[in-house]
Amino acid sequence: MSQDNLIKMKCVECGEINYYSSKNKKLIKEKLEMQKHCSRCKKHTKHKEA
Ligand SMILES: [Zn+2]
Repeated sequence: MSQDNLIKMKCVECGEINYYSSKNKKLIKEKLEMQKHCSRCKKHTKHKEA
């Protein structure tokens, strides 16, 4: 798998990068968004592609 497809998922509330994901940037133009547990906020928050 190419490093080019590696993306960071960042908590929108505290800015912590909690997850790494991957996508093909050539195929998917939209920024990813997902509801994930943030260890700093200690709750589920929205995470956006950083
Ligand atoms: Zn957070």
